[in-house]
Amino acid sequence: MKAIAKTRLAALIRSDAQRFAALKREIVHLHYFCKGTLLKRMMKCGNKKCACHRGPAKRHGPYFECTYKVQNKTVNLKLYPEALHLYRAAIHQSRKLKLLLGRMERLSRSALARLAQQKLTGAD
Ligand SMILES: [Zn+2]
Repeated sequence: MKAIAKTRLAALIRSDAQRFAALKREIVHLHYFCKGTLLKRMMKCGNKKCACHRGPAKRHGPYFECTYKVQNKTVNLKLYPEALHLYRAAIHQSRKLKLLLGRMERLSRSALARLAQQKLTGAD
């Protein structure tokens, strides 16, 4: 490998390390996270004579739920409207974490390939 190619490889390796460190700093700043989906539901009650049994528009609610899976089982967590924003924010954080992890993994693959190449060429 020519010296210029080795210098370029070393620069790319430094750049990988900086980008990886930047992604790690973003993860450090995450808040509580929770996978899930928020649902708004209108419900029928147990009283067959109640108006809610005469059409979807007359159902009770809205009631809010956060659904997510734990060990392949769906969990439905009932939420008070006051708690909605907490869960909405946590779901957003969870998506952000997944995105960051995906970026870190893709970056790791190319960084590892470059480091392996550097070892092969004895450029370090
Ligand atoms: Zn009802």
